Amino acid sequence: MHESSMAMSILGIVTDEAQKAHVAAVVQVCLCVGDLAGVEATTLAACFEMLSEGTVADKAKLVIKRIAATGTCMVCGTAAVGRGRMLRCPVCETGSVKLATGRELYVESIEVEQSQQG
Ligand SMILES: [Zn+2]
Repeated sequence: MHESSMAMSILGIVTDEAQKAHVAAVVQVCLCVGDLAGVEATTLAACFEMLSEGTVADKAKLVIKRIAATGTCMVCGTAAVGRGRMLRCPVCETGSVKLATGRELYVESIEVEQSQQG
């Protein structure tokens, strides 16, 4: 169940930011998740929805942007692009690829509703 602890830390980031900015509500959270981050996006979204209940992010929509795995073959130097959770060199088919992207897991942006002023 590591998606639920991830959802918890994401929610922590979101509520922290919301508090600092004195916002009324968080409406959307954009999350970047690499294909090799080992995260089940739908599970993560479901956990987030459950945990955010009653918080400032209660009605927030979690938007997950998948980031494909890319890298450079350590044998022949060819650029490799991953498919799903596989990342192999298209030329020599080795799995020895130096990863450039694919392990991301971070909050990209938070969309908020400003509280009423005066
Ligand atoms: Zn290669």
